[in-house]
Amino acid sequence: MSMDANEHDESLSPDGTPWWELSYEPGSTRKRFGQERRLAAWLWFEKEVGDTFTMREIRAALGPDIADDSEHLNRRLRELRKADWVIPSHRNDSQLPRDTYRLEVKGGRLWIAGEKQKYKKFAPSDRVRRYVLERDGSRCTICGVGVGEEYPGEPGVKARLTIGHRVPQERLNSRGAMDDMDNWRAECSRCNETVRDEMPDPEQYDEVVAGLKRLNANESKDLLHWLRKGERPRSRLDQAYDRARRLSHVERHALIGLLAKRVGES
Ligand SMILES: [Zn+2]
Repeated sequence: MSMDANEHDESLSPDGTPWWELSYEPGSTRKRFGQERRLAAWLWFEKEVGDTFTMREIRAALGPDIADDSEHLNRRLRELRKADWVIPSHRNDSQLPRDTYRLEVKGGRLWIAGEKQKYKKFAPSDRVRRYVLERDGSRCTICGVGVGEEYPGEPGVKARLTIGHRVPQERLNSRGAMDDMDNWRAECSRCNETVRDEMPDPEQYDEVVAGLKRLNANESKDLLHWLRKGERPRSRLDQAYDRARRLSHVERHALIGLLAKRVGES
């Protein structure tokens, strides 16, 4: 590429480094330059639409200070998708090998200051958040983990709950649809990060029908009842469990002792 003196290479930050190699904001020695901004710049300048790339390639291109964990990088990719980048993975495109991504549409130029704000989406109020968490029993509707509980097999990793859209916000075209309580559900932060990548469509009717075969008659009756009612009422037992889980560790321990006695264990 030839350049005039008054023309500058847009792939370079003010200090002459490619944007994707920046660890800190231009002119700063402590403010980190976001990894999704670096990723966006690298894809924009170094890849063509239709090109594929792997996590390994991203790490090699962005340098050693990039997080060495694919969940982290996946989260960055999701930030890009929020800014109108279309980057399918093998999960949404069976033609792609595992851990390979294809650049389908270049979106927002996130390395430019202020650009990310343009893609900020509607956020729910605290009232909506509380209502949804309460309604869903303070439990992730995807994996079932309760707030503050440890993930199975991962001692010390406690779940945080947030709320997310059943149908991705990107596919809704009116503000009213975004505010629809039915479309909000409790999700743990882990499921919330990955769910949209893993589920290209919310649910397929045929697959839901196929899943019904595994239910017994009573379960089918319960399901019918919940669907007609438009909610799943939590049983007395569910409610007792939800409340017990919100006790402190010490109180919960005392409760376990009390229950053990009540059911006749020593
Ligand atoms: Zn979850």
